Formats: sequence, C-alpha cells, structure tokens
Amino acid sequence: MRCGGMVGAALVGALLATAVAAAGPQALTPAATPADGSEVVPHLRHADSIAAGLLAEGRRRSATFRALADAVQAADVLVFVETSPRLRGAGSTVFVGHAGATRILRVRVATPGCLNALVATLGHELRHVVEIAEAGDVQGEESMAAHYERTGLRLPPQSQDVRRYETVAALLVEGRILDELRHRASKVARR
Ligand SMILES: [Zn+2]
Repeated sequence: MRCGGMVGAALVGALLATAVAAAGPQALTPAATPADGSEVVPHLRHADSIAAGLLAEGRRRSATFRALADAVQAADVLVFVETSPRLRGAGSTVFVGHAGATRILRVRVATPGCLNALVATLGHELRHVVEIAEAGDVQGEESMAAHYERTGLRLPPQSQDVRRYETVAALLVEGRILDELRHRASKVARR
C-alpha cells in the first residue's frame, strides 16, 4: 500500500511540523479578534501535536475538510481532537459533557497510520460532530445513542457497554476527503 508518510507517536517531527508551519498559526482558529473586538473562542481544539498537524493538513489540502471544520467552529459545541494508539477502530466521537449550554465532544483518531488516511478519518469524525451539533436533542450518551438508533446504522459491539453507530454521510465524506488529498498530491507531483 502506498503511504505518503506514516504518522504516529514516534514520528511527530518534520512532516507535521511542516504542515503546521505551512498552514500558519491562524489555521486552527479563525481570526482571534474580529472587527467588533469580541474574542472568538475556538470550538475545534487539538489535545496533542499530531492532532494539531492533522487538523492543519485537512484544512490546507481538502475543501470538504475545511467546510466541516468551519461548520464545527460555527456550531455551539466544543470539540477536543486527540490521537491515540489504543483505539479500537480508526476513529471515534464521544459525548463528554457540558460547559453551560455548550456540548463538549471528544474526537479520537487511531495512530499510527498513513497521513492521508488519518486526515480522512478525522474528517469522518468531524461529520459526526456536525450531525450531533445539528441535533439539539442530543444532550448526553443516552440521547446520542437514541439519535443514532433513528438516523444511523448500528455496528456490532466491540465490548459489552459500548454502542457503536455509523452514518452513510460520514463514510461518503471520508471518501471525498481522500479523493481531494490524492488529487492535490498528484497535481503537486506533476509540477
Ligand atoms: Zn463513523
């Protein structure tokens, strides 16, 4: 399998540092101070440097990813993105709690992996974040499970107490992001 570069706990270095640098310090959060002087709170945050790199890569190289990240930023949710070598499956989105009325979610992406695949997985999970953000009745684990019972596909459980769901929209988004990442890579290669 062709892999643009393995990314994982042991390889935080050059590739992702370059990605973050290329995207610039403003890439992960919109303008810090809009014209009216109010402070913009970043709704999409990274919990580790690999997650920061994946967010920057996605924003830089995929219009679909960028639109999802912007939708999350505009929504009344707070999302922490982290990478983990101990995740079953490629990614997950879980309900964490509330900060006032704002819902807090945690997105995890399993590492190590190929850069493009990790970015696409993160985009897939951001699609779930948008689904949850748009469903005002999702206010906890139970109501989240009830929402996906109605709107999603139930996956076989991997352990007794964890219910797992999937949506067609998230799968489609993941494929579209992968296409955009590959297309951009081939355009760069032809230069
Ligand atoms: Zn999914």
